Amino acid sequence: MEYTAEIICVGTELLLGSVVNTDAMDVSKALSELGINVYYHTVVGDNPDRLKAAVELAKNRADIIITTGGLGPTYDDLTKQTLAESFGKKLIFHEDQAERVRGFFRHLNKTGKMTDNNLLQAWFPEDSTILENSCGTAPGCAFLSEGKHVIMLPGPPRECRAMLKSGVVPYLLALSDSHILSHNIRVFGMGESAVEERLHDLMLSLTNPTLAPYAQTAEMSLRLTAKANGPEECERMMKPILNDVLAILGDVVYGVDVDSLEEACINHLKEKGLTLACGESCTGGLLSKRLTDIPGSSAAFSGGVVAYSNRAKTSFLDVPSELLSLKGAVSPEVAVSMAEGAMNRFGSDIAIGITGLAGPDSDGSDIPVGTVYIALAAGTSRFIKKMSFGNYDRDRVRTAAASNALDMLRRCLTGLKPAPEIII
Ligand code: ATP
Ligand code: MG
Repeated sequence: MEYTAEIICVGTELLLGSVVNTDAMDVSKALSELGINVYYHTVVGDNPDRLKAAVELAKNRADIIITTGGLGPTYDDLTKQTLAESFGKKLIFHEDQAERVRGFFRHLNKTGKMTDNNLLQAWFPEDSTILENSCGTAPGCAFLSEGKHVIMLPGPPRECRAMLKSGVVPYLLALSDSHILSHNIRVFGMGESAVEERLHDLMLSLTNPTLAPYAQTAEMSLRLTAKANGPEECERMMKPILNDVLAILGDVVYGVDVDSLEEACINHLKEKGLTLACGESCTGGLLSKRLTDIPGSSAAFSGGVVAYSNRAKTSFLDVPSELLSLKGAVSPEVAVSMAEGAMNRFGSDIAIGITGLAGPDSDGSDIPVGTVYIALAAGTSRFIKKMSFGNYDRDRVRTAAASNALDMLRRCLTGLKPAPEIII
């Protein structure tokens, strides 16, 4: 059976614009990976009447209703009560869940003191399946009523994400006999429209597996999804399509089922037993931040210097002050010198230097805003890439610069040409 779902996010803070609705994004992503169509997102404040009205609408147009938020112990957490009323269900007290909440407070303070409202988290609509909360105190729950599957998840994004994985995906997989499996093909260095153009005929010809593009900042991915009786069958169906996509796109694919460019780079560095250092100016440490986001990156990432002023470039990355005066801070020569400085200071095998004008204002020189030079030093080789991001906003210039640096590194580590080589 083809299921359709509707997501209702509850919280006045979402309507006021104080919080970005990331739960809707996470739930939608999880559902699309399961092949469940999401037709509507609704956001409603902490108001039982308006929530009831939203539920009535959802009942008429979806098989699965997923709510986020309002499961906690405070007066405005009304989701379970309201959904129970909407489906004519009583709320039932679960002693085991009450004991779990008491245990949480005993762990927090010796006396185990807690306010009574915390026990609201032990009440659930009758016949609910409880979804354990591994990151917080408020469990979620799911029930089937009037032919609709209703699933309630906590608002805090960390809790919502964990419960999606541990509770919701298994619950939804059990609704269907068929198995769904996906591969995520990560692409850097080719825009969405160019990718679509190359894959257009293939995408149109497919019904199962399906191939769908997703654009991200400065990169994109393609999700290949198959539905079959078991995981082996899914893999068997996807293999020839995956091979076709890899052959068509070539070396702009930086990985399959890898989370990010930085993860791909750290993996390659570790496999080769190599170390990396960075000298960053306009990215302000973003490259180092992204690399250190990867658990276990210390085995491959030696460190980085944020050298923003000319003085810092000279003091901490040994960029000759004459070079800075002669060529200017935003120049290929200085980028290379920053990479070499980082390599020497950290004693790494490879180093990256980044210098540029992130904007929005010009520095008074004739260098256009959005110009970034990225240098990669690997042993005695030096590669340099000039980027002209133009009127991108500051954040995008930095993100795109860090991503391009990572892609140069990934290419270098996989035997591809990272950028034009220069002789120094
Ligand atoms: P708690 O036990 O923390 O009260 P809850 O399930 O009752 O959890 P809410 O009270 O609705 O959740 O929200 C708690 C916090 O979670 C909000 O202040 C907000 O920061 C975050 N949050 C809620 N809903 C969303 C959402 N849809 N997207 C992103 N963050 C959210
Ligand atoms: Mg709450």
